[in-house]
Amino acid sequence: MTTISANLQAVRARIHEAALKWGRNPADITLLAVSKTWPASAVQDAAAAGQRSFGENYVQEGVDKATELQALQLEWHFIGPLQSNKTRRVAETFDWVHSIDRLKIAERLSEQRPDSLAPLQVCLQVNVSAEDTKSGVALEEVPELAKRIASLPRLKLRGLMAIPAPVEDFSLQRPAFRRLREAFEQLNSAGLSIDTLSMGMSHDIEAAIAEGATMVRVGTAIFGERTKT
Ligand SMILES: *Cc1c(COP(=O)(O)O)cnc(C)c1O
Repeated sequence: MTTISANLQAVRARIHEAALKWGRNPADITLLAVSKTWPASAVQDAAAAGQRSFGENYVQEGVDKATELQALQLEWHFIGPLQSNKTRRVAETFDWVHSIDRLKIAERLSEQRPDSLAPLQVCLQVNVSAEDTKSGVALEEVPELAKRIASLPRLKLRGLMAIPAPVEDFSLQRPAFRRLREAFEQLNSAGLSIDTLSMGMSHDIEAAIAEGATMVRVGTAIFGERTKT
């Protein structure tokens, strides 16, 4: 067994255990393997071990890997910061985008999504940590932006994503995830039918699952420590 397949098994076991502990169905939680900075060969190893969904942060790197590995028919998620001049390549290559925090970016992606492909599946990135400098729309702005994005023709709004400020302790990790879940529930109550809460990374999978994550984005625990960023 390769290190990657052993790591994948361990991460799947963590997800399974946390799901059972918090009364969730493990089948409701999708594992996204974050392969940023790792070569296509690492993605191939993970794919050989049954992993289908991969997350990338940098447009060129993601497009290169997706193109090289096209025959494997993997699902590619763009999860990094996105500038307007790069939207076309993302619209043409990726299946999902998790990091939408401006209407303009969403409009460009909708216009540029080829008709030959399924609608681009998207999440709004929300800033759930007050002191956080990471990108993301403020919680107060979520309802209006979500409504507008849901009406764009070539996008399918699936849910919300967050990268909370890193904290060590489980009980301190939960509140930021809870805020995202509450925003998600409010959108569904307001009539938007969304199903994805993209939250939880290598160090906080358990807290995210306790708060309702449906997709966890895991890099380090699968591929190892990154030496570049
Ligand atoms: C890098 C990254 C991850 C994975 O983080 P790890 O700590 O390596 O698991 C998840 N989500 C986003 C948006 C990332 O940039």
